[in-house]
Amino acid sequence: MSDLTLAQWQHKAAHLTLPSQAFIDGAYRDAIHGATFDCINPANGKLLTKVAACDGADAELAVHVARTAFNDRRWSGLSPKQRKLILQRFADLMRLNQLELALLESLDMGKPISDAMGYDAPAAANCIAWNAEAIDKIYDQVAPVEASALALVTREPLGVVAAIVPWNFPLVMACWKLGPALATGNSVILKPSEKSPLTALRIAGIAKEAGIPDGVFNVLPGFGHTVGEALAMHTDVDCITFTGSTKIGKHLVECSGKSNLKRAFMECGGKSPNIILADAPDLDAAAKSAAGAIFYNQGEVCTAASRLLVQNSIKPQFIARLLAHAREWISAHPLDPATRIGAIVDNSQMEQVLRYIEIGKQEGAKLLLGGNQTNTESGGFYIEPTIFDEVTPKMRIFREEIFGPVLAITGFDTLEEAITLANDTDYGLAAAIWTSDLNKAINGSRALRAGSVFVNNWDGGDMTMPFGGFKQSGNGRDKSLHALEKYTELKSTWIQLE
Ligand code: NAD
Ligand code: MN
Repeated sequence: MSDLTLAQWQHKAAHLTLPSQAFIDGAYRDAIHGATFDCINPANGKLLTKVAACDGADAELAVHVARTAFNDRRWSGLSPKQRKLILQRFADLMRLNQLELALLESLDMGKPISDAMGYDAPAAANCIAWNAEAIDKIYDQVAPVEASALALVTREPLGVVAAIVPWNFPLVMACWKLGPALATGNSVILKPSEKSPLTALRIAGIAKEAGIPDGVFNVLPGFGHTVGEALAMHTDVDCITFTGSTKIGKHLVECSGKSNLKRAFMECGGKSPNIILADAPDLDAAAKSAAGAIFYNQGEVCTAASRLLVQNSIKPQFIARLLAHAREWISAHPLDPATRIGAIVDNSQMEQVLRYIEIGKQEGAKLLLGGNQTNTESGGFYIEPTIFDEVTPKMRIFREEIFGPVLAITGFDTLEEAITLANDTDYGLAAAIWTSDLNKAINGSRALRAGSVFVNNWDGGDMTMPFGGFKQSGNGRDKSLHALEKYTELKSTWIQLE
């Protein structure tokens, strides 16, 4: 943690050099066609910088460069130990530059600087270091066949991996892909969101400084429908690894089918349920956690606990506690170290969240807290933490991902009813259950159709645990050793002996 004040952070921001060019073959460069897009600071609506808007031509060049680097084995041909040392240096340099990375992240997407310093920047470096450490400790296999043969099962890198990532945790989402893809020897082309390209661009230079060879790690800022689409349709890209909305995830799977059947891993959206049973061990802890689970990162979290399911026998008391905790989440300037809710990433996302708040009112849900844009004098994009009660499964605010600080509460009587409500969704990213009863905890967590289930907590997790979704929340897993499997092919080699 740093103890800089708002004024000190603003001073640093004013003197910061913002990266703005693409990174291809080890060098920063403008987009081939010279186009740029505006990178806006959501805290005040002002222009931060103009960033290279790459398109199909840049994708063509980057794929060629990445393929050349893969084929001549300048990275894939290094021993795992050598790749480990370079990636460890990469992680170390990210840690040395933590303050700058955190500041870029906060400026670009509006998250509180305390969160960027406390989570995003260190977690991103830790992810790279963890994958670096893993890569020379994993063994391939020898199959138990007859003595007349030696049968090997080995893993090989895929080749060129395109990583397309969202704006809500730009650096962390990028590193969840980069860490395992680079560790296993692939070449990577990273396409950050047009809403938050800055940290991706900055770490490209850091990676080069760490010794990652030219062409192995490239970054193409730009729009999804131009450069993103070009990568997804490219016949010389071996894998598209994506985090973002379910809508675009579905489209990218189609792109794979229409082009070269590239491996397609989709980490998508969620509408995650948080079940509070009357016998929860500590109702106040549960209420505090429920507030954080929807308001952290402005509610712009794929695993946000956006549906709160509360047992009717305790619902009034629980809501009173929840409101008390929710009132501590105040939307304020992201660079103020005391801020807990920063700015919404941009105007269009703010408008979308406000539209959903209107829909909730029209559908007949009961507004308990918030519901408005706030801090309008700043010129930035802020929304009050918002809570609706009496939400029913038919309502859109129960079913659709809002991706903002908006909570929907629904009551239930029995655990069975809670599980039915919880699973009544197209998504399956995360779910939680709060109870003191071991049987309810275990049977409940088994019945929940979600990639992550939390018992008596919301945000448990670690690099050692896989992360990803059931159902339309996607396929494949980030984090843990399982993530390394995505970026390798299995090869069976049968050696006949005399
Ligand atoms: P998005 O789907 O709009 O965009 C994600 C990325 O895809 C961006 O880089 C965008 O430019 C690119 N893209 C858009 N259209 C494309 C196209 N036609 N071809 C190729 N690329 C294209 O999502 P977003 O608004 O940036 O992020 C929010 C979403 O991400 C939410 O749904 C959230 O739940 C999800 N998310 C999921 C996880 C997870 O791990 N499951 C984590 C974080 C965010
Ligand atoms: Mn931005």
